[in-house]
Amino acid sequence: MFYNKRMKLSSSARIQTALETMGILSYEDVLRHVPRTYEDLSLSESVLKVDRQRIVLQGHVATQPKMFRHGRFTSTTFKFLAHDHHLYSVVAFNRPFFAKSIQLNTLYRLVATYDAKRSSLNLMNFYQDDGSLPVLKPVYRLPEDIPQYVFTRLVKKAMTLLPTLSFQRFLPESFYAIHHVMPIEKALSILHYPTSLTDVEKASRLFKFEEAYAYFSYMKQRKLTQQALRKQAIDTISYGKVVDKIERLPYRLTTDQLQALDDIVNDMNDEHVMHRLLQGDVGSGKTVVAVMALYANALRGQQGVLMAPTDTLAKQHLQTLQSLLKDDGLRIGLLVGSLSVSERRSIQTQLEEGTLDLCVGTHAVFSENVTFMNLGLVVIDEQHRFGIAQREKLRLKGPHADFLMMSATPIPRSLAMSIYANMDLSTLNQFPYEKRNVQTYLVQDDNALIDYTIQLALEQHKRIYILAPAIDQSSTGKQTVDALYDRYAFKYPRLVSTLHGKLKAEEKTRILQQFASGQFPILISTTVIEVGIDVKEASVMIIHDANTFGLATLHQLRGRIGRDGSEATCLLVTQTEALLENERLDVLVKTNDGFVIAEHDLEIRGPGELLGEKQAGVPSFNVLNLVKDRAILEAVRHFIAL
Ligand code: ADP
Ligand code: MG
Repeated sequence: MFYNKRMKLSSSARIQTALETMGILSYEDVLRHVPRTYEDLSLSESVLKVDRQRIVLQGHVATQPKMFRHGRFTSTTFKFLAHDHHLYSVVAFNRPFFAKSIQLNTLYRLVATYDAKRSSLNLMNFYQDDGSLPVLKPVYRLPEDIPQYVFTRLVKKAMTLLPTLSFQRFLPESFYAIHHVMPIEKALSILHYPTSLTDVEKASRLFKFEEAYAYFSYMKQRKLTQQALRKQAIDTISYGKVVDKIERLPYRLTTDQLQALDDIVNDMNDEHVMHRLLQGDVGSGKTVVAVMALYANALRGQQGVLMAPTDTLAKQHLQTLQSLLKDDGLRIGLLVGSLSVSERRSIQTQLEEGTLDLCVGTHAVFSENVTFMNLGLVVIDEQHRFGIAQREKLRLKGPHADFLMMSATPIPRSLAMSIYANMDLSTLNQFPYEKRNVQTYLVQDDNALIDYTIQLALEQHKRIYILAPAIDQSSTGKQTVDALYDRYAFKYPRLVSTLHGKLKAEEKTRILQQFASGQFPILISTTVIEVGIDVKEASVMIIHDANTFGLATLHQLRGRIGRDGSEATCLLVTQTEALLENERLDVLVKTNDGFVIAEHDLEIRGPGELLGEKQAGVPSFNVLNLVKDRAILEAVRHFIAL
């Protein structure tokens, strides 16, 4: 890290550069780069011959390996005489050099999975067993340029220097005793050369605490900066007028929507500048809360901007604003990338002169040429799509503006208070309708349920989304919009249209309108429709190659259907039968609860993806797990008083 002077760690320039890119400049840094996981090399005691069972064997290669070519692929086969006195048939896929490097008289350790159908072993890993193999072999997170064995050697060298190295202690001294955190030298010895996973667990506490501490220290700084912002003059918003408007809305707000709005208006009436996060599952009705906040802001005579990540969503928001605020005499503009130069100039002038009260926009708003006469409220929809630097740009346009962030990945309150520690939080737990009625099924591509579902929806004059991971020719064998068009347009002539990100903005708008109106009730698309699109009549979502999408994305996509509260069906389609056994996809089948899904997602992702701040130097979590290590997060957050 920064306090250690830079050293030459490798004689290879390529590896040296790769290390430096990772921020590894000294032997201290090498050791601080702790393993991502461990490969268990303890010998299997009994081989049960269960399909796909993982097996570790020690022994000798008993026959000269033979290699076969199958087009672009190779397979190499040999017999292995193992410590349990059995002779195993082993297959190694796509290791063309394997046959040459193998030695018949050497003791090896072999990691494989059992293939019941062929009664053979599929080779995963292979090590020379010279007596120095660890039981738990560290696996490091490394770029392509640095092979595992190179880094392992570097660690070995650094370990011999351990007594001469000096490590900075990032944690307050009290932590070590109170929270049973080991001194770093001991923790590092264990993590790089562990003898049991229990030891690993204990040793990694140090690094988990360090990560949590760095994160909350950073968040605290941000919070302090935000708290220092004061509004110059507080034009109090009249609650009576807000209530009056609430009563004129076309529907009754849910209790949660009312509570969130109350939080927001209170914040806006406070001298501190608002930094509030409004979180709620897809379809929980965040938009109308944003509209009401913008209305309240207009009541105090200030301009407001509503930011959306895509042109399509911005246009949809414009329509919502226009319809919900049509009797209020507010002047509303749109500022997106697809405007002509003169249209854009005109909007800019109106914002600058204050003749526009509200503006819906995309990234186009960040431009330096865009200034406001008196920007009082910034609402950012799908906040994770925007970075911290972009938020700063908006801050410059409204130094005292209130900020409302919106997130469709709701997480439990305690966790949200940790991750979004610099913001206040409002949550929509309820849905505007009694219950959303989306059934999800996991099916293989040839399942008759697909056509049955489509036909039923067509009979009921509903809309159908069909999703593909790619647009046209796909080298990875994934489904494409083009291929699916051929297939479905053949079955349902004159009912199908396609949509993807490469189309021009006007084109997209037109296609979505034709879809919404029912002219083309089947829309084949990429994930461009993921965010926010609101077509009430949509009741079917068919996602091809569902296994290639992230959980949050799939849940967002599913949130596009059943928006009027009537029955809706989501089909998660996989190409092969094997892919049907998918734990991740099962989560979606079992629950519609965005909180549960987000929690599953967080186990594999970091906070940066939720914050949309990966690029902005937010301390990241490598060993800390947001879900499993919640106690550590809480302990540190309390200590830092956030
Ligand atoms: P999201 O939170 O995903 O952004 P939206 O704001 O798009 O959800 O709301 C989903 C749908 O619910 C919209 O069609 C909206 O008009 C409708 N809606 C929102 N609040 C209510 C309510 N209180 N009563 C009835 N419908 C509502
Ligand atoms: Mg939305």
